[in-house]
Amino acid sequence: MTGRMKGTPRSPRMDESGVTVLADRTLESLLSEARPDIAGILDGVMTGRELSPPDALTLFGAEGPDLQAVLKTADELRRAKNGDVVTFVIVRNINFTNICYTGCKFCGFAKRKDDPEAEFLTLDEIARRAEEARQRGATEVCIQGGLFPNIAGTYYRDILTAIKTRVPDIHIHAFSPFEIKYGSERMGIPAREFLIMLKDHGLGTIPGTAAEILDVEIRQQLTRNKLTAEEWISIVKTAHGLGIRSTSTMMYGHIDGPEHWVGHLNTLREIQKETGGFTEFVPLGFIHWDAPLYYAGGARPGPTRDENLKVHAIARIFLNGWIDNVQVSWVKLGPRLAQYVLKNGGANDFGGTLMNETISRSAGAPHGEEVTPLEMCRMIRAIGRTPARRNTLYDILERYDDHDPPDIPPLVPRTPDQERQLAAVNNGF
Ligand code: SF4
Repeated sequence: MTGRMKGTPRSPRMDESGVTVLADRTLESLLSEARPDIAGILDGVMTGRELSPPDALTLFGAEGPDLQAVLKTADELRRAKNGDVVTFVIVRNINFTNICYTGCKFCGFAKRKDDPEAEFLTLDEIARRAEEARQRGATEVCIQGGLFPNIAGTYYRDILTAIKTRVPDIHIHAFSPFEIKYGSERMGIPAREFLIMLKDHGLGTIPGTAAEILDVEIRQQLTRNKLTAEEWISIVKTAHGLGIRSTSTMMYGHIDGPEHWVGHLNTLREIQKETGGFTEFVPLGFIHWDAPLYYAGGARPGPTRDENLKVHAIARIFLNGWIDNVQVSWVKLGPRLAQYVLKNGGANDFGGTLMNETISRSAGAPHGEEVTPLEMCRMIRAIGRTPARRNTLYDILERYDDHDPPDIPPLVPRTPDQERQLAAVNNGF
Protein backbone atom coordinates (compact mmCIF):
# COMPACT_ATOMS: atom_id res chain seq x y z
CA MET A 1 0.00 0.00 0.00
CA THR A 2 1.33 3.39 -0.88
CA GLY A 3 -0.01 6.27 1.17
CA ARG A 4 -0.76 9.56 -0.58
CA MET A 5 1.31 12.33 0.90
CA LYS A 6 1.39 15.97 0.22
CA GLY A 7 4.79 16.83 -1.12
CA THR A 8 6.59 19.82 -2.44
CA PRO A 9 7.31 19.49 -6.16
CA ARG A 10 11.00 19.66 -6.84
CA SER A 11 13.10 19.81 -9.94
CA PRO A 12 13.87 16.33 -11.16
CA ARG A 13 17.49 15.38 -11.80
CA MET A 14 18.15 14.57 -15.45
CA ASP A 15 20.70 12.23 -16.94
CA GLU A 16 23.05 13.43 -19.65
CA SER A 17 20.58 12.48 -22.39
CA GLY A 18 17.84 14.55 -20.77
CA VAL A 19 15.87 11.75 -19.17
CA THR A 20 14.69 12.17 -15.61
CA VAL A 21 16.55 10.02 -13.12
CA LEU A 22 14.03 8.30 -10.89
CA ALA A 23 16.25 6.12 -8.75
CA ASP A 24 16.49 8.74 -6.02
CA ARG A 25 12.73 9.41 -5.80
CA THR A 26 10.23 7.41 -3.78
CA LEU A 27 6.94 6.28 -5.22
CA GLU A 28 5.12 8.16 -2.49
CA SER A 29 6.71 11.45 -3.41
CA LEU A 30 6.03 10.93 -7.11
CA LEU A 31 2.40 9.97 -6.44
CA SER A 32 1.97 13.08 -4.37
CA GLU A 33 2.83 15.17 -7.42
CA ALA A 34 0.71 13.15 -9.87
CA ARG A 35 -2.81 13.87 -11.13
CA PRO A 36 -5.37 12.43 -8.66
CA ASP A 37 -6.90 9.98 -11.16
CA ILE A 38 -3.47 8.62 -12.15
CA ALA A 39 -2.28 8.47 -8.55
CA GLY A 40 -5.49 6.60 -7.65
CA ILE A 41 -4.97 4.02 -10.38
CA LEU A 42 -1.35 3.48 -9.38
CA ASP A 43 -2.23 3.25 -5.70
CA GLY A 44 -4.75 0.55 -6.61
CA VAL A 45 -2.14 -1.37 -8.59
CA MET A 46 0.26 -1.31 -5.64
CA THR A 47 -2.44 -2.82 -3.43
CA GLY A 48 -2.87 -5.71 -5.85
CA ARG A 49 -5.67 -4.49 -8.10
CA GLU A 50 -5.47 -5.68 -11.71
CA LEU A 51 -5.12 -2.79 -14.16
CA SER A 52 -8.28 -2.49 -16.27
CA PRO A 53 -8.14 -1.55 -19.97
CA PRO A 54 -9.78 1.88 -19.39
CA ASP A 55 -7.29 2.63 -16.59
CA ALA A 56 -4.41 1.51 -18.81
CA LEU A 57 -5.61 3.97 -21.44
CA THR A 58 -5.60 6.72 -18.81
CA LEU A 59 -2.01 5.83 -17.92
CA PHE A 60 -0.97 6.15 -21.57
CA GLY A 61 -2.02 9.80 -21.31
CA ALA A 62 0.50 10.42 -18.52
CA GLU A 63 3.09 13.14 -19.08
CA GLY A 64 5.75 14.78 -16.93
CA PRO A 65 5.35 13.98 -13.22
CA ASP A 66 2.47 11.59 -14.02
CA LEU A 67 4.70 9.61 -16.34
CA GLN A 68 7.41 9.50 -13.68
CA ALA A 69 4.88 8.02 -11.25
CA VAL A 70 3.90 5.39 -13.87
CA LEU A 71 7.56 4.46 -14.43
CA LYS A 72 8.27 4.25 -10.71
CA THR A 73 5.25 2.00 -10.15
CA ALA A 74 6.43 -0.29 -12.93
CA ASP A 75 9.90 -0.31 -11.40
CA GLU A 76 8.53 -1.22 -7.96
CA LEU A 77 6.56 -4.12 -9.46
CA ARG A 78 9.67 -5.25 -11.33
CA ARG A 79 11.71 -5.17 -8.15
CA ALA A 80 9.09 -7.17 -6.25
CA LYS A 81 8.92 -9.86 -8.96
CA ASN A 82 12.45 -10.03 -10.33
CA GLY A 83 14.70 -8.51 -7.69
CA ASP A 84 17.86 -6.76 -8.79
CA VAL A 85 18.94 -9.35 -11.32
CA VAL A 86 18.86 -8.46 -15.01
CA THR A 87 18.92 -11.53 -17.21
CA PHE A 88 20.09 -12.24 -20.74
CA VAL A 89 20.32 -15.31 -22.96
CA ILE A 90 23.16 -16.37 -25.25
CA VAL A 91 21.39 -17.01 -28.52
CA ARG A 92 22.07 -16.89 -32.22
CA ASN A 93 19.48 -15.64 -34.66
CA ILE A 94 19.49 -17.65 -37.86
CA ASN A 95 17.24 -16.12 -40.49
CA PHE A 96 17.28 -18.96 -42.98
CA THR A 97 15.76 -16.98 -45.83
CA ASN A 98 14.81 -13.39 -46.52
CA ILE A 99 13.00 -14.27 -49.74
CA CYS A 100 9.33 -13.45 -49.25
CA TYR A 101 6.52 -12.05 -51.40
CA THR A 102 3.95 -11.60 -48.63
CA GLY A 103 4.28 -7.84 -48.87
CA CYS A 104 3.87 -6.75 -45.25
CA LYS A 105 4.08 -2.99 -45.46
CA PHE A 106 6.23 -2.50 -42.36
CA CYS A 107 8.88 -4.99 -43.48
CA GLY A 108 12.34 -3.93 -44.61
CA PHE A 109 13.68 -7.48 -44.42
CA ALA A 110 11.99 -9.31 -47.32
CA LYS A 111 13.78 -9.60 -50.67
CA ARG A 112 12.78 -10.86 -54.10
CA LYS A 113 14.59 -13.93 -55.43
CA ASP A 114 16.59 -11.89 -57.94
CA ASP A 115 17.70 -9.31 -55.36
CA PRO A 116 21.49 -9.39 -54.84
CA GLU A 117 20.89 -9.60 -51.08
CA ALA A 118 18.44 -12.51 -51.36
CA GLU A 119 19.47 -15.45 -49.21
CA PHE A 120 18.35 -19.03 -48.67
CA LEU A 121 20.49 -21.08 -46.31
CA THR A 122 21.01 -24.79 -46.90
CA LEU A 123 20.24 -27.21 -44.08
CA ASP A 124 23.96 -27.82 -43.73
CA GLU A 125 24.68 -24.10 -43.32
CA ILE A 126 21.88 -23.71 -40.75
CA ALA A 127 23.30 -26.61 -38.75
CA ARG A 128 26.84 -25.23 -39.08
CA ARG A 129 25.72 -21.87 -37.70
CA ALA A 130 23.95 -23.60 -34.80
CA GLU A 131 27.11 -25.55 -34.00
CA GLU A 132 29.22 -22.39 -34.16
CA ALA A 133 26.70 -20.72 -31.81
CA ARG A 134 27.00 -23.59 -29.34
CA GLN A 135 30.79 -23.24 -29.38
CA ARG A 136 30.30 -19.55 -28.50
CA GLY A 137 28.18 -20.48 -25.49
CA ALA A 138 24.68 -20.32 -26.98
CA THR A 139 21.95 -22.31 -25.28
CA GLU A 140 19.37 -21.32 -27.90
CA VAL A 141 19.06 -20.72 -31.61
CA CYS A 142 16.21 -18.57 -32.86
CA ILE A 143 15.13 -19.60 -36.35
CA GLN A 144 12.80 -17.45 -38.44
CA GLY A 145 12.56 -16.61 -42.11
CA GLY A 146 10.43 -15.14 -44.85
CA LEU A 147 7.63 -17.18 -46.41
CA PHE A 148 9.71 -18.61 -49.26
CA PRO A 149 7.45 -19.32 -52.26
CA ASN A 150 6.76 -23.00 -52.94
CA ILE A 151 8.88 -24.19 -50.04
CA ALA A 152 8.02 -27.74 -48.95
CA GLY A 153 6.24 -27.65 -45.60
CA THR A 154 8.60 -30.42 -44.54
CA TYR A 155 11.53 -27.99 -44.79
CA TYR A 156 10.59 -26.60 -41.38
CA ARG A 157 10.84 -30.12 -39.93
CA ASP A 158 14.09 -30.74 -41.80
CA ILE A 159 15.66 -27.60 -40.29
CA LEU A 160 14.96 -28.97 -36.81
CA THR A 161 16.38 -32.39 -37.70
CA ALA A 162 19.52 -30.85 -39.21
CA ILE A 163 20.18 -28.78 -36.08
CA LYS A 164 19.40 -31.52 -33.56
CA THR A 165 21.58 -34.03 -35.42
CA ARG A 166 24.58 -31.68 -35.19
CA VAL A 167 23.84 -29.98 -31.81
CA PRO A 168 21.47 -32.20 -29.79
CA ASP A 169 21.47 -30.12 -26.61
CA ILE A 170 20.60 -26.72 -28.07
CA HIS A 171 17.12 -25.28 -27.50
CA ILE A 172 15.37 -24.48 -30.76
CA HIS A 173 13.12 -21.44 -30.58
CA ALA A 174 11.65 -21.33 -34.03
CA PHE A 175 8.95 -20.32 -36.48
CA SER A 176 6.46 -17.52 -35.93
CA PRO A 177 2.72 -18.26 -35.98
CA PHE A 178 2.76 -16.96 -39.58
CA GLU A 179 5.37 -19.59 -40.52
CA ILE A 180 3.40 -22.25 -38.66
CA LYS A 181 0.30 -21.33 -40.67
CA TYR A 182 2.27 -21.26 -43.94
CA GLY A 183 4.11 -24.55 -43.32
CA SER A 184 0.93 -26.37 -42.33
CA GLU A 185 -0.85 -25.08 -45.42
CA ARG A 186 2.08 -26.16 -47.61
CA MET A 187 1.71 -29.67 -46.16
CA GLY A 188 -2.09 -29.58 -46.26
CA ILE A 189 -2.47 -30.45 -42.59
CA PRO A 190 -3.98 -28.55 -39.63
CA ALA A 191 -1.68 -26.29 -37.62
CA ARG A 192 -2.04 -28.59 -34.62
CA GLU A 193 -0.70 -31.60 -36.53
CA PHE A 194 2.09 -29.49 -37.96
CA LEU A 195 3.09 -28.33 -34.48
CA ILE A 196 3.04 -31.90 -33.14
CA MET A 197 5.35 -32.93 -35.99
CA LEU A 198 7.71 -30.04 -35.23
CA LYS A 199 7.74 -30.82 -31.51
CA ASP A 200 8.56 -34.45 -32.28
CA HIS A 201 11.54 -33.23 -34.29
CA GLY A 202 13.01 -30.97 -31.63
CA LEU A 203 11.02 -27.72 -31.56
CA GLY A 204 11.32 -26.24 -28.05
CA THR A 205 9.41 -22.96 -28.11
CA ILE A 206 8.04 -20.55 -30.72
CA PRO A 207 8.54 -16.81 -31.05
CA GLY A 208 5.35 -14.83 -30.53
CA THR A 209 6.27 -12.62 -33.43
CA ALA A 210 3.97 -11.74 -36.37
CA ALA A 211 1.55 -10.43 -33.75
CA GLU A 212 2.27 -6.81 -34.73
CA ILE A 213 -0.93 -5.35 -33.26
CA LEU A 214 -3.75 -7.84 -32.74
CA ASP A 215 -6.39 -5.56 -34.19
CA VAL A 216 -8.34 -6.24 -37.38
CA GLU A 217 -8.18 -2.73 -38.85
CA ILE A 218 -4.51 -2.23 -38.12
CA ARG A 219 -3.59 -5.65 -39.48
CA GLN A 220 -5.60 -4.92 -42.61
CA GLN A 221 -3.30 -1.99 -43.28
CA LEU A 222 -0.05 -3.62 -42.17
CA THR A 223 -0.33 -7.11 -43.64
CA ARG A 224 -3.57 -7.15 -45.63
CA ASN A 225 -4.67 -9.43 -42.79
CA LYS A 226 -2.90 -12.46 -44.27
CA LEU A 227 -2.52 -13.85 -40.78
CA THR A 228 -5.58 -12.66 -38.91
CA ALA A 229 -5.58 -11.86 -35.20
CA GLU A 230 -7.84 -14.88 -34.66
CA GLU A 231 -5.38 -17.15 -36.49
CA TRP A 232 -2.44 -15.81 -34.45
CA ILE A 233 -4.34 -16.40 -31.22
CA SER A 234 -5.48 -19.85 -32.28
CA ILE A 235 -1.97 -21.01 -33.28
CA VAL A 236 -0.42 -19.66 -30.08
CA LYS A 237 -3.09 -21.29 -27.90
CA THR A 238 -2.70 -24.56 -29.78
CA ALA A 239 1.07 -24.47 -29.27
CA HIS A 240 0.67 -23.72 -25.57
CA GLY A 241 -1.83 -26.59 -25.28
CA LEU A 242 0.81 -28.92 -26.73
CA GLY A 243 3.40 -27.76 -24.19
CA ILE A 244 5.18 -25.54 -26.69
CA ARG A 245 5.59 -22.23 -24.88
CA SER A 246 6.10 -18.94 -26.66
CA THR A 247 7.16 -15.36 -26.21
CA SER A 248 4.70 -12.53 -26.76
CA THR A 249 5.45 -9.35 -28.68
CA MET A 250 3.89 -6.12 -29.90
CA MET A 251 5.16 -3.93 -32.74
CA TYR A 252 4.21 -0.33 -32.04
CA GLY A 253 4.87 3.17 -33.30
CA HIS A 254 3.53 3.04 -36.88
CA ILE A 255 -0.20 3.62 -37.58
CA ASP A 256 -1.29 2.54 -34.13
CA GLY A 257 -2.11 4.30 -30.89
CA PRO A 258 -2.72 3.71 -27.19
CA GLU A 259 -6.16 2.17 -27.69
CA HIS A 260 -4.60 -0.53 -29.89
CA TRP A 261 -1.78 -1.16 -27.39
CA VAL A 262 -4.26 -1.61 -24.57
CA GLY A 263 -6.41 -3.97 -26.67
CA HIS A 264 -3.31 -5.95 -27.59
CA LEU A 265 -2.09 -6.24 -23.99
CA ASN A 266 -5.57 -7.29 -22.91
CA THR A 267 -5.62 -10.06 -25.53
CA LEU A 268 -2.22 -11.32 -24.34
CA ARG A 269 -3.33 -11.25 -20.70
CA GLU A 270 -6.50 -13.19 -21.53
CA ILE A 271 -4.51 -15.84 -23.41
CA GLN A 272 -2.08 -16.11 -20.51
CA LYS A 273 -4.92 -16.57 -18.03
CA GLU A 274 -6.13 -19.47 -20.16
CA THR A 275 -2.84 -21.19 -21.07
CA GLY A 276 0.02 -19.83 -18.94
CA GLY A 277 2.21 -20.43 -21.98
CA PHE A 278 3.92 -17.05 -22.47
CA THR A 279 7.44 -16.78 -21.11
CA GLU A 280 7.86 -13.04 -21.61
CA PHE A 281 6.58 -9.89 -23.26
CA VAL A 282 8.84 -8.07 -25.71
CA PRO A 283 7.79 -4.63 -26.99
CA LEU A 284 9.21 -4.07 -30.47
CA GLY A 285 9.33 -0.47 -31.61
CA PHE A 286 8.69 0.02 -35.33
CA ILE A 287 11.90 0.55 -37.34
CA HIS A 288 10.82 2.85 -40.14
CA TRP A 289 13.93 3.52 -42.22
CA ASP A 290 13.43 0.87 -44.91
CA ALA A 291 9.73 0.16 -44.38
CA PRO A 292 7.49 0.62 -47.45
CA LEU A 293 4.67 1.88 -45.22
CA TYR A 294 6.78 4.79 -44.04
CA TYR A 295 7.90 5.75 -47.52
CA ALA A 296 4.29 5.68 -48.74
CA GLY A 297 3.60 8.31 -46.07
CA GLY A 298 1.34 6.02 -44.09
CA ALA A 299 3.24 5.66 -40.84
CA ARG A 300 5.01 7.57 -38.11
CA PRO A 301 8.81 7.26 -37.93
CA GLY A 302 8.67 4.82 -35.03
CA PRO A 303 7.72 5.47 -31.42
CA THR A 304 8.85 8.53 -29.47
CA ARG A 305 11.05 8.13 -26.39
CA ASP A 306 8.04 8.65 -24.11
CA GLU A 307 6.02 6.07 -26.03
CA ASN A 308 8.85 3.58 -25.61
CA LEU A 309 8.92 4.27 -21.88
CA LYS A 310 5.15 4.03 -21.53
CA VAL A 311 4.76 0.80 -23.49
CA HIS A 312 7.32 -1.04 -21.36
CA ALA A 313 6.12 0.38 -18.05
CA ILE A 314 2.39 0.00 -18.65
CA ALA A 315 2.94 -3.52 -20.00
CA ARG A 316 4.72 -4.37 -16.72
CA ILE A 317 1.78 -2.98 -14.74
CA PHE A 318 -0.92 -4.47 -16.97
CA LEU A 319 0.61 -7.95 -17.13
CA ASN A 320 1.68 -8.01 -13.46
CA GLY A 321 1.22 -11.48 -12.01
CA TRP A 322 0.57 -12.99 -15.43
CA ILE A 323 3.63 -12.28 -17.56
CA ASP A 324 6.39 -11.16 -15.21
CA ASN A 325 9.26 -10.97 -17.66
CA VAL A 326 9.41 -7.77 -19.70
CA GLN A 327 12.28 -7.69 -22.16
CA VAL A 328 13.97 -4.73 -23.79
CA SER A 329 14.92 -5.12 -27.43
CA TRP A 330 18.33 -3.46 -27.58
CA VAL A 331 18.34 -3.63 -31.38
CA LYS A 332 15.18 -1.49 -31.48
CA LEU A 333 15.77 0.87 -28.55
CA GLY A 334 19.53 1.09 -28.79
CA PRO A 335 21.62 -0.03 -25.81
CA ARG A 336 21.39 3.28 -23.94
CA LEU A 337 17.61 3.59 -23.88
CA ALA A 338 17.41 -0.15 -23.19
CA GLN A 339 19.54 0.46 -20.08
CA TYR A 340 17.28 3.31 -19.02
CA VAL A 341 14.13 1.19 -19.32
CA LEU A 342 15.76 -1.59 -17.31
CA LYS A 343 16.89 0.83 -14.63
CA ASN A 344 13.73 2.92 -14.37
CA GLY A 345 10.87 1.56 -16.43
CA GLY A 346 9.87 -1.93 -15.33
CA ALA A 347 11.86 -4.23 -17.64
CA ASN A 348 14.00 -7.06 -16.23
CA ASP A 349 15.54 -8.80 -19.23
CA PHE A 350 18.15 -7.59 -21.71
CA GLY A 351 17.19 -10.17 -24.34
CA GLY A 352 19.66 -12.09 -26.42
CA THR A 353 23.22 -11.64 -27.53
CA LEU A 354 21.88 -12.48 -31.04
CA MET A 355 25.19 -12.89 -32.93
CA ASN A 356 23.58 -12.34 -36.35
CA GLU A 357 20.64 -9.99 -36.01
CA THR A 358 19.37 -9.31 -39.53
CA ILE A 359 15.68 -8.42 -39.35
CA SER A 360 16.05 -5.05 -37.63
CA ARG A 361 19.39 -4.35 -39.34
CA SER A 362 17.77 -4.91 -42.76
CA ALA A 363 15.05 -2.45 -41.79
CA GLY A 364 17.70 0.17 -41.07
CA ALA A 365 18.25 -0.16 -37.29
CA PRO A 366 21.75 1.15 -36.54
CA HIS A 367 22.50 -0.64 -33.27
CA GLY A 368 24.58 -3.55 -34.53
CA GLU A 369 23.88 -7.23 -34.54
CA GLU A 370 25.55 -8.63 -31.46
CA VAL A 371 26.25 -7.73 -27.85
CA THR A 372 28.71 -10.22 -26.37
CA PRO A 373 28.05 -11.80 -22.94
CA LEU A 374 30.81 -9.72 -21.34
CA GLU A 375 29.35 -6.52 -22.81
CA MET A 376 25.91 -7.53 -21.52
CA CYS A 377 27.37 -7.91 -18.04
CA ARG A 378 29.12 -4.53 -18.21
CA MET A 379 25.97 -2.75 -19.36
CA ILE A 380 23.92 -4.38 -16.60
CA ARG A 381 26.47 -3.57 -13.89
CA ALA A 382 26.62 0.01 -15.17
CA ILE A 383 22.99 0.45 -14.06
CA GLY A 384 23.67 -1.06 -10.65
CA ARG A 385 22.12 -4.48 -11.26
CA THR A 386 23.46 -8.03 -11.11
CA PRO A 387 23.83 -9.76 -14.48
CA ALA A 388 22.67 -13.35 -14.89
CA ARG A 389 22.60 -15.71 -17.84
CA ARG A 390 19.32 -17.55 -18.29
CA ASN A 391 17.89 -20.16 -20.62
CA THR A 392 14.89 -19.73 -22.91
CA LEU A 393 12.44 -20.62 -20.11
CA TYR A 394 14.01 -18.12 -17.67
CA ASP A 395 15.86 -20.61 -15.48
CA ILE A 396 18.99 -18.84 -14.20
CA LEU A 397 22.08 -20.68 -15.47
CA GLU A 398 24.82 -18.45 -14.06
CA ARG A 399 24.94 -15.30 -11.94
CA TYR A 400 27.86 -12.95 -12.45
CA ASP A 401 28.17 -11.58 -8.91
CA ASP A 402 31.92 -11.81 -8.75
CA HIS A 403 33.21 -12.99 -12.09
CA ASP A 404 32.85 -12.31 -15.79
CA PRO A 405 31.92 -14.45 -18.76
CA PRO A 406 34.77 -15.14 -21.22
CA ASP A 407 35.78 -12.17 -23.35
CA ILE A 408 35.02 -13.25 -26.91
CA PRO A 409 35.06 -10.96 -29.94
CA PRO A 410 31.80 -10.39 -31.85
CA LEU A 411 31.12 -12.89 -34.60
CA VAL A 412 30.75 -10.12 -37.17
CA PRO A 413 33.25 -7.26 -36.84
CA ARG A 414 31.61 -3.93 -35.89
CA THR A 415 31.79 -0.55 -37.48
CA PRO A 416 33.71 2.10 -35.49
CA ASP A 417 30.37 3.85 -34.80
CA GLN A 418 28.89 0.73 -33.24
CA GLU A 419 32.03 0.24 -31.12
CA ARG A 420 31.79 3.84 -29.88
CA GLN A 421 28.09 3.48 -29.04
CA LEU A 422 28.69 0.33 -27.01
CA ALA A 423 31.69 1.79 -25.20
CA ALA A 424 29.57 4.78 -24.15
CA VAL A 425 26.82 2.72 -22.52
CA ASN A 426 29.18 0.98 -20.09
CA ASN A 427 29.29 4.14 -18.02
CA GLY A 428 25.72 3.95 -16.72
CA PHE A 429 23.71 6.92 -15.49
S1 SF4 B 1 7.21 -9.56 -42.17
FE1 SF4 B 1 7.73 -11.71 -42.66
S2 SF4 B 1 5.96 -12.43 -43.86
FE2 SF4 B 1 5.84 -10.18 -43.88
S3 SF4 B 1 6.98 -9.57 -45.76
FE3 SF4 B 1 8.47 -9.53 -44.07
S4 SF4 B 1 9.43 -11.55 -44.14
FE4 SF4 B 1 7.51 -11.71 -45.32
